[in-house]
Amino acid sequence: MQITFLGTGTSQGVPVIGCHCVVCRSVDYRDKRLRVSVHVLVHGKSLVIDSGPDFRQQALRERIDHLDALLFTHEHKDHTAGLDDIRAYNFKQQQDMPVYAEPRVLEQLKREYAYIFAEHKYPGVPRVQTVPIVSDTNSFLVEGVPVLPIRALHYKLPVLGFRIGGFCYVTDANHLSSAALDQMRGSDVIVLNALRRERHISHFSLDEAVAVLEELAPRQAYLTHISHLLGRHRDVEATLPEFIRLAYDGLRVEVA
Ligand SMILES: [Zn+2]
Ligand SMILES: [Zn+2]
Ligand SMILES: [Zn+2]
Repeated sequence: MQITFLGTGTSQGVPVIGCHCVVCRSVDYRDKRLRVSVHVLVHGKSLVIDSGPDFRQQALRERIDHLDALLFTHEHKDHTAGLDDIRAYNFKQQQDMPVYAEPRVLEQLKREYAYIFAEHKYPGVPRVQTVPIVSDTNSFLVEGVPVLPIRALHYKLPVLGFRIGGFCYVTDANHLSSAALDQMRGSDVIVLNALRRERHISHFSLDEAVAVLEELAPRQAYLTHISHLLGRHRDVEATLPEFIRLAYDGLRVEVA
């Protein structure tokens, strides 16, 4: 299984428009963070988790020429704003795009993208085949690939992380139940969100994320959904245990 980080930034991305802080002015390519998304290549299937506002640019950069399905963690715009750009795959693959999300998230997509779901569609609009994720404990198949949903809380909003084989991806969370932690145990690679150093109402802080990862002790862990407030990539990484690294855009990881 191969993972590619398409984006690793929080909702505003890094740099932030109009900000001249040391992170936003950094020339290190690892401090340029598009909105969070990850590409998973598993059993020959090409999957993307979340298509935010930078999706087109990310798909071009990583040459994602084929996409079998799209999964959504939750309905926030920084995770869904790129849905229109799946049209390219509709045209190329000549089929509707399977879109997996919880029923509440699908309802929100139907409101925000009314034209995609209209009875009489304008020619050329995206074509999606929605697949509701109805259980937050049982695995489901995405194009034949077993995916285990992991329930997390994003302030009060229930969101989903996903476990695919030895890979766990949880973003936009600041609470994981002991049952959710048990589902993540034994992973080879875990990706978890860490927004900044200070506590936040809806995201894990750096210390909180590190504490979760130290308990779960995967072979390798990566932090994502990073704000400019966290600090420069190289400065932050220097403070972390060896098995925890900051993700960066374009990072590719092999998962056992
Ligand atoms: Zn987000
Ligand atoms: Zn800044
Ligand atoms: Zn969110």
